[in-house]
Amino acid sequence: MKSLLLFGATGDLARRMLMPSLYGLDSDGLLPDDLRIVGTARSLLSEDAFKAMIETALGEFVEKDRQRPEWIAKFIARLRYVPLDVSDPTQYQALHDALSREDGGHGPADGLRIFLSTAPSLFGPTIAGLKSAGLCGDQTRLALEKPLGHDLASSAAINDAVAAVFPESRTFRIDHYLGKETVQNLLALRFGNALFEPLWNAQGINHIQITVAETVGLEGRLGFYDDAGAIRDMVQNHMLQLLALTAMEPPARFDATSVRDEKVKVLRSLRPIDGASAATHSVIGQYGAGAVAGQPVKAYDEELGRASTTETFVALKAHVDNWRWQGVPFYLRTGKRLPTRSTEIFIQFKAVPHSIFAGAGAALQPNKLIIRLQPDEGITLRVMLKEPGLDRAGMRLRETPLDISMPNAFADSRRRIAYERLLLDLLDGEPTLFVRRDEVEAQWSWIDAIRAGWKANGMTPKSYPAGTWGPSAAIALTERDGVTWHD
Ligand code: NAP
Repeated sequence: MKSLLLFGATGDLARRMLMPSLYGLDSDGLLPDDLRIVGTARSLLSEDAFKAMIETALGEFVEKDRQRPEWIAKFIARLRYVPLDVSDPTQYQALHDALSREDGGHGPADGLRIFLSTAPSLFGPTIAGLKSAGLCGDQTRLALEKPLGHDLASSAAINDAVAAVFPESRTFRIDHYLGKETVQNLLALRFGNALFEPLWNAQGINHIQITVAETVGLEGRLGFYDDAGAIRDMVQNHMLQLLALTAMEPPARFDATSVRDEKVKVLRSLRPIDGASAATHSVIGQYGAGAVAGQPVKAYDEELGRASTTETFVALKAHVDNWRWQGVPFYLRTGKRLPTRSTEIFIQFKAVPHSIFAGAGAALQPNKLIIRLQPDEGITLRVMLKEPGLDRAGMRLRETPLDISMPNAFADSRRRIAYERLLLDLLDGEPTLFVRRDEVEAQWSWIDAIRAGWKANGMTPKSYPAGTWGPSAAIALTERDGVTWHD
């Protein structure tokens, strides 16, 4: 019998994302018939109580038209529950025995898949406990949720603890952005079309913006967020993955080694933002009281219950120092309590070298490609077109979008949760959409230098009213270069 062993099975991520994703795969017949899903957490729940908890979660988080009693019953029948405090080494034998019991006492089959959805401080003890109980056979795969540490040193310590037991080929580090359709579409767009690649460089592109804007505040993640801040919560992982996929050279093949080799080259080519450049190339902010979507909201420190110097907004001007991208700024910004929820990659091409059109109505805008991840997935190419009319005073041109809305363009396919893709790849042993150790460490070393630069320059977050696009310095960061943020 095959087993997926899920640590943190009673947690928010498991209930909101992982179980609904596994259910989604199951209802499409994509899980092996003999797969059981063994949840574990500290809570001393009976198996029936755990099953009831997950059934409630499916009712809450699975789309109503996908909730069918027979699918739910089939999925719930796969579930098992073994309570375990991962910090207690004496409890792992019971887990081993519980897994073996159904296999006729032969020990769990070697096809064990393990998913750690717990705090990263528990990863080390969990792996040690699993090893001591003989649960890390040479086919076992391990998936790890973020955050993988809080700086390079702590990330390396986690990676060392993992590597002592699992080779890189069986280690699956999750960045759920890589499971999103539009993120994979970036590769399809770049490398499945002849149209873009010849212009995808410093000759064709003026600048690139990557925005991850949230309207929410702390959402109960008080301790975690205040320790992390925007740069570690969003930039270190998701935004640098988006940047790497946007900037990387064409991989020779779509396979784990080729794709990740190209991404890590980009990450290592990022020009350091350090003590010398932090003040001119980065802006940090923290939201004050304000209004989002017409509703008054509290300031960050009021929500937190104490004063804090954690940034809830960061804007960066980055450069990829290689031949392809010389002189092309990559502006990144992310924040909480911004006016809209949106995640997008915005690529502004260069202007035409010479305009043949005269008159005010003929002002040419450079082409823009916008890859939207949230709230709706889509791709827009903004091009100049002639306005209909007789134009006796000269041709009138207007910037016009060529729009591809993913839900409309692919109305026949179901939109999936990013974790469905990743869980299926974990079960299949397909690591392309997981983050390799050298990537995560290159990401951390770039982020650590920025944070050290803030410290060296005595930079603290500037206040911005909730419901605005961050401190005015973030606007100045791009306007100095004649660039306007795409809001
Ligand atoms: P959570 O709601 O706090 O759940 C934590 C889980 O870990 C619970 O099942 C808890 O079990 C279990 N746990 C805690 N201490 C344990 C111990 N000593 N032994 C065994 N189990 C223990 O956290 P979460 O939001 O699900 O997040 C899980 C991980 O994913 C975290 O590292 C988080 O940063 C990361 N993450 C979460 C999200 C998200 O959207 N929630 C997104 C990205 C990454 P008991 O309740 O039984 O104690």
